[in-house]
Amino acid sequence: RSYGQGRAVQGPTLSELPQVLLADLFLPSSEAPDETVLPIQHGLYVVECHICMFFQLIIKTVCSHCGEIFLDSKCQSKQCREDVHPVLVVKAIVLVDDGSNQATVSFHDAILVARLLTLTEKQWNDISEGLSDCGRLVITKDGTDSRLPIAKLLNCLCSSLLVLRPCKLAVVRDKKSPTQNLINKKAMDEFQIRQVKIAKTSVQTWSLPLLSLACFALEEVN
Ligand SMILES: [Zn+2]
Repeated sequence: RSYGQGRAVQGPTLSELPQVLLADLFLPSSEAPDETVLPIQHGLYVVECHICMFFQLIIKTVCSHCGEIFLDSKCQSKQCREDVHPVLVVKAIVLVDDGSNQATVSFHDAILVARLLTLTEKQWNDISEGLSDCGRLVITKDGTDSRLPIAKLLNCLCSSLLVLRPCKLAVVRDKKSPTQNLINKKAMDEFQIRQVKIAKTSVQTWSLPLLSLACFALEEVN
């Protein structure tokens, strides 16, 4: 079994892309004050940030034809065809911070997720092999329900300082994010309540929802 069916990490190297702060991606561009969708939200940008928290990791093997879980060498849908094969689907969501703002960053590519988790190709392939016992593995910031040793290992890894580290990411604004047009449609219920500590008291304040980004490349910071 290989790294999966995701895109290979190719295209421009990170040094060729414009480097911005997370706050730059969140604020409206002064060049286009009337536009609903802002130019900076469409491009690929590099941010140097710290991975602060692992929200979610999902790894599953699905049927190449219908997308149902693939388990015990067959598709779990009774209506499905015979000539199908398993496809590895991977998704990770982390929280990052660069001092100017925080953002959630999603990873949908198997090679990228392996790199995010600091795993070698062999380690990653061993994990996909281990998945044949359950078909689906979910790790969240609260832990995992799975009793598989591989789940326990990944759970520890996701919250370790090996993974929660500084890095450079090539990102775009996640167009599916419900907060995409936030600047223009400031509905109060889109804001999040935050508890802020000031001296010995704490106050509740409304703050902007998290910026949502999708990652296309990752580089270590030396
Ligand atoms: Zn199927």
